[in-house]
Amino acid sequence: MTTTNMGLDDSGMTIEPVDKASVEKVNLLGMSEDKLAAFFEGQGEKRFRVKQVMQWVHQRGVIDFDAMSDLSKALRAKLAELAEIKLPELVSEQVSEDGTRKWLVRVTAGSCIEMVFIPEGNRGTLCVSSQIGCALDCSFCATGKQGFNRDLSAAEIIGQLWIAAKSLDSLDPTKDRVISNVVLMGMGEPLLNFDNVVDAMNLMMHDCAYGLSKRRVTLSTAGVVPALDKLGDVTDVSLAISLHAPNDELRNQLVPLNRKYPIAELLRSAQGYLAKLPDKRRKITVEYTLMREINDRPEHARELAALLVDTPCKINLIPFNPFDQSDYQRVSNNALYRFRDILIEAGYTVTLRTTRGDDIDAACGQLAGQVNDRTKRSQRYRQQQDQGLEAVRIIPA
Ligand code: SAH
Repeated sequence: MTTTNMGLDDSGMTIEPVDKASVEKVNLLGMSEDKLAAFFEGQGEKRFRVKQVMQWVHQRGVIDFDAMSDLSKALRAKLAELAEIKLPELVSEQVSEDGTRKWLVRVTAGSCIEMVFIPEGNRGTLCVSSQIGCALDCSFCATGKQGFNRDLSAAEIIGQLWIAAKSLDSLDPTKDRVISNVVLMGMGEPLLNFDNVVDAMNLMMHDCAYGLSKRRVTLSTAGVVPALDKLGDVTDVSLAISLHAPNDELRNQLVPLNRKYPIAELLRSAQGYLAKLPDKRRKITVEYTLMREINDRPEHARELAALLVDTPCKINLIPFNPFDQSDYQRVSNNALYRFRDILIEAGYTVTLRTTRGDDIDAACGQLAGQVNDRTKRSQRYRQQQDQGLEAVRIIPA
């Protein structure tokens, strides 16, 4: 049976009947608790429905309202008519020899994003994307070469975690979580998609959704200072900043955004974020991708050590992962360890990010997806971006 709406428009003319089935349904997937509450209240429903629906969707992986057995039949029917739980479409899944997994999901016709799961001992980290492509164009990053299409919605961001958790059987909070950490280090600059990223992160941490601790959700930014200045007012997730250079001259070349927000401003803003957190022991992570003979010399390490004295931080060194359209080279092991030792001697905690998922192009900075580019940039970098996807297992619809 098709329900139709009839009515008059402002001019008093009869308007065409509207087929309700064709009216866009509200997607509840990415809604924060408050937004869901507003939706349910708008329907004259009690607030406790919010938590029930959140648990069905995010903890049991149920997206069909009809299967939500503790909701009344009438409410289920109403939800089915007005709303939906709409996920991005899973296109393919690849598994690396080292257990790293990469999923390609379609978010818009012509555009796909990638997310990666990295198991390490008893923890498992999911790396999710915040935008289709990236507008920042850092010189050493594969995502930037593909240009930019648009921000992801909160549903498309949390949908990545839903898909990965479902695929890894990691939704049930009463069981040990396979996905213990989420990092916003996939495609895109999260702080340029502020509201959607905050909604999605709050769901990651919500007790009725994924229940991850604030220390296990990490936002990584290239340094959008005005947004970072506001971040501590709305969330308390872990923060990583992509520094990559110890001075503005070099950082201007690697991270063009630095011309707008130079290092001193970025560090001041990151310190301000920490100052807003109640726990005064928390630190930020400084990410530093090492490229051979670009930013890997001992004097760079010493300059970095001096630069960070007033910033409570640990330093994560990332050997550059080469990709086709890039002229940079990976740091040598000698230079990597020399760099690390100088920082350790200066009193810093330093971690090395080992390269994982090399065989499926899942390493840091290699996430390329498929971006229907709205900028002219990808034309310049054209070549191809899908190399390595031959081994992809296409999931049947
Ligand atoms: N836009 C955000 C998040 C995405 S990048 C940011 O800039 O932080 C996640 C991390 O991977 C960043 O530190 C980024 O600089 C690093 N990265 C990008 N390309 C890389 C590459 N080819 N090799 C190693 N690390 C890379």
